[in-house]
Amino acid sequence: MLKGKVAVVTGSTSGIGLGIARALGQAGADLVLNGFGDAATIEALRTSLASECGVRVAYHGADLATADGVESLIRHAEAALGGVDVLINNAGIQYVASIEEFPVERWDAVLAINLSAVFHGTRCALPGMKARGWGRIVNIASAHGLVASVQKAAYVAAKHGVVGLTKVTALETAGTGVTCNAICPGWVLTPLVQKQVDALAAAKGLDDAAARADLLGAKQPSGQFVTPEQLGALAVFLCSDAAAQMTGAALPMDGAWTAQ
Ligand code: NAD
Repeated sequence: MLKGKVAVVTGSTSGIGLGIARALGQAGADLVLNGFGDAATIEALRTSLASECGVRVAYHGADLATADGVESLIRHAEAALGGVDVLINNAGIQYVASIEEFPVERWDAVLAINLSAVFHGTRCALPGMKARGWGRIVNIASAHGLVASVQKAAYVAAKHGVVGLTKVTALETAGTGVTCNAICPGWVLTPLVQKQVDALAAAKGLDDAAARADLLGAKQPSGQFVTPEQLGALAVFLCSDAAAQMTGAALPMDGAWTAQ
């Protein structure tokens, strides 16, 4: 379905981004991976995705905390694979503290990576998409793009910002063949969430399984984690022709978290 298209997935060396990259690759898209990690592990991932999916896979390790970093990723994708047809703005970080105790440097980092990088990636990729008359931008927001929780001021502010930016992007591209939507996952068991499970286990004296159940129980009525594979399937759907008129939406996949 996506044969001949090039997909850039930010933060795809781990977790949700990797799940989405794999799903897009299985649908035939050439891939540009991005994110941090051990160089040999990333190279093994790059070659295994290429042979598993039969697509071209490039990697660029840009730090998306700066505008220049984001721009270099998009330019690298254009130079290496010929253009950016699908942009998955996924890279993100978390920091947990009350507002009075929130380190200013952590606020700046969360806003830069979780929100400003989405703006810069969109800004740099849109001209090529518009020129070709086809494009798909999928922003990985969060249930925290729709509702709030204590101790996550920067993350909640950034993710609400991503949902707003998604709507503006959809309005500015309406009728051009480019769509922009946000996916709002609930809890997904990735390294980003395991850190919060570990903190909960330490604070409440729980083992890992009990801490996971406690975390889910507080927010996610299904009591089950969303998986990167499920999010990958939704991203592939948003890239399909069936979703051509779906734009500006913020789609929860959250085990009924935001239905409450
Ligand atoms: P993760 O920690 O497993 O992966 C994050 C990825 O982003 C990694 O590849 C990492 O290297 C990359 N990254 C981090 N900082 C970067 C930077 N400065 N420049 C480039 N790459 C950078 O996290 P995840 O859980 O897979 O999260 C992915 C996205 O999904 C994030 O935007 C997160 O907010 C969102 N999300 C996660 C959950 C969840 O429960 N895990 C729920 C809702 C939304």
